[in-house]
Amino acid sequence: MAIGFQSRGHCPLCQSENRNTLLDIAYTDEKLAGHIEAFYQGKVPLKRLKSGSYRVLHCQDCYFIYQDPILNHQGMQALYLDWVDHAASLNKKQQAKARLYRQYAMQVQSLAFLLPNRPDQVCILDYGMGWGYWSRMAQAHGYKVYGYELSTQRCEHARAMGVDVIEQLPEAGEHYDCIYANQVFEHLPDPLGSLQSLCARLKPGGLVYIRVPDGRGIVDWLDNRDWSPELDAIHPFEHINCFTRKSLIAFATRAGLKPVNLPLRLNWGSLWGGIQREIADRYLTTHILFTK
Ligand SMILES: [Zn+2]
Repeated sequence: MAIGFQSRGHCPLCQSENRNTLLDIAYTDEKLAGHIEAFYQGKVPLKRLKSGSYRVLHCQDCYFIYQDPILNHQGMQALYLDWVDHAASLNKKQQAKARLYRQYAMQVQSLAFLLPNRPDQVCILDYGMGWGYWSRMAQAHGYKVYGYELSTQRCEHARAMGVDVIEQLPEAGEHYDCIYANQVFEHLPDPLGSLQSLCARLKPGGLVYIRVPDGRGIVDWLDNRDWSPELDAIHPFEHINCFTRKSLIAFATRAGLKPVNLPLRLNWGSLWGGIQREIADRYLTTHILFTK
């Protein structure tokens, strides 16, 4: 089958067909086509995609924001294997500031606080592992980590760094104490089905960390202003599911998860920054830890 589009037909969270159109721009539109040309370095065959349009919808039953149509299977393969700039993505990780690794370490330590067992007895799945840097950080804390990733280039890189990469998820069962999914669910054609499948591989009481771009304010923006490439949470082709904190919690609840109240992590050295982070993490952000 050729690269093209497929219709989702309904809200990927609640299955409702009752939706409003927030945005509908033809791929021939100069501003949109210009952004896609630049972002994907001219690799997207826009002439072949001219029949489709970049459409963002708003479910009127659960208020989820999502793209429809989305690329078909061949289109998704082309997007993630060929169109995305792998070299730039790897470069970003290889030349990251210490802050990124500090963030990874803090995430692992937050999980450690909630995981009752010794690290060598804990299995973590890094779902949508990317290049493997978070997996490596979790390994450094003593955990057994398995990375799952579609991109073969990223899998090879992670393996070369010593990450245990799996090509298929195991059969459903009590496999993982924790599942980490950083910037994954915004990309998936069937996010709820994927999360349910992950939960079927989680141990009772296991943890699921989900981080997605923040779509807060997108509806207001699109009501009042034109589309802009800076609206990353609805990026064409890639960010086909757009979450707010509220819809992320509703999404996870549908898969049988509930949010975990994180322990307070203030320290006197940066009390004001710590308070701001605590408030954001508890009430505003779209990175949330859940439990089954
Ligand atoms: Zn819905």
